[in-house]
Amino acid sequence: MTTMLKAPSSKEFMDKLKSRTPGEIEFHQAVHEVVESLLPFLEENPRYKTAKILERISEPERILIFRVPWVDDKGEIQVNRGYRIEMNSAIGPYKGGLRFHPTVNLGILKFLAFEQVFKNSLTTLPMGGGKGGSDFDPKQKSDNEVMRFCQSFMTELCKHIGPNTDVPAGDIGVGGREIGYLFGQYKRIRNEFTGVLTGKGAEWGGSVIRPEATGYGNVYFAEEMLNTKNDSLKGKIVTVSGSGNVAQFTVEKVNELGGKVVTLSDSSGFIHDPDGIDGEKLTFVMRLKNIKRGRIEEYAKKYNVAYYPNARPWGVKCDVALPSATQNEINAEEAQILIDSGCICVSEGANMPSTPEAVDIFIKNEILYGPGKAANAGGVAVSGLEMSQNAMRLSWTREEVDNQLQRIMKDVHTTCVKYGKSSNGYVNYVNGANIGGFVKVANAMIAQGIV
Ligand code: GLU
Repeated sequence: MTTMLKAPSSKEFMDKLKSRTPGEIEFHQAVHEVVESLLPFLEENPRYKTAKILERISEPERILIFRVPWVDDKGEIQVNRGYRIEMNSAIGPYKGGLRFHPTVNLGILKFLAFEQVFKNSLTTLPMGGGKGGSDFDPKQKSDNEVMRFCQSFMTELCKHIGPNTDVPAGDIGVGGREIGYLFGQYKRIRNEFTGVLTGKGAEWGGSVIRPEATGYGNVYFAEEMLNTKNDSLKGKIVTVSGSGNVAQFTVEKVNELGGKVVTLSDSSGFIHDPDGIDGEKLTFVMRLKNIKRGRIEEYAKKYNVAYYPNARPWGVKCDVALPSATQNEINAEEAQILIDSGCICVSEGANMPSTPEAVDIFIKNEILYGPGKAANAGGVAVSGLEMSQNAMRLSWTREEVDNQLQRIMKDVHTTCVKYGKSSNGYVNYVNGANIGGFVKVANAMIAQGIV
């Protein structure tokens, strides 16, 4: 006999989750947002309640935590902590990046892994969700120190991952250099050349466009949102935060579509270049950040523009804001400043860059707001395409991969509109992404039984 289950209220659900996961504040934040979007949908679709999908989807399938000892250039032993959250494998192998940053902890990686489940589902590709990383700080470390750390990290991680099990990639602090060292160690220990990591170099199994994909994809998504208002990025003033991989290729694509990017930042402050960051100036940023590994302040010195230490760029007047740095980098006050200065579109290249209060302000003012799990899905989407190419032992051209990326971002947008359109016509992309990402995973979980 089946009984009709009443879905718990958002508060009941969150109280229980919080008591089981004390201190994991970013995880609570990410789950709360999804629960708020989903509860009305669950009322209309009670089979998800009966199957306790919400309870199951917010509990990782497996968490690995391990010691990562390594020796620095002075010969001193260092100890870091390594993690891999294997969140959900209902629709494919666990898939998601590794973050190396001193702030990394269990709560942050669980929020990222949780978001990844929905994001990966939205891409239309068969990928489950995972995330991992370490509190290791690659800043100021020599290449050899980074290599020794990566080798030690992979010596443990290689026991748990594989091309059909769990496929890590990059995130903050993990780029081409780190993926190279991690891949080399995996290959050496396991004696196999497989697509176990994505974001590899193009000569050794990587996909073209993977470095560009998150930034390009976010710009394609913003353009899709603007198109719904018969508008586009052409002629728009754009503020971008961050100056890493995502920010760099965001700038490149905005320039290509005729917009003007006037800010970039790092954890020390932001630069404001009213003439636009383009051409040779963008090449300078790429060299500064990817090779020299210096601070964005050097841009201000070189091009004689304003630098604001310990500040974020949201006070600069813009039409479009593309946060591309890290979580919770736009608070309520900054969201209100964006609205008051005429910003019509916020599209997130970073994961969860807006606080819940900031998101409420964007939605209340009915601007175009693309949450990270939809807007930045292009990165992992091209990772999915890298997995396909590795499985076939073939590689596609730039044009083929870029066309697929554009198609995927359009599909993600269409899904958000389908599930997020309110009765007055406003598209709530938060609800759209959460419900759209949920349905496929939830149906797969039901089909696979109580596992
Ligand atoms: N770290 C990226 C993200 O947040 C990419 C993950 C991947 O390519 O697996 O989606």
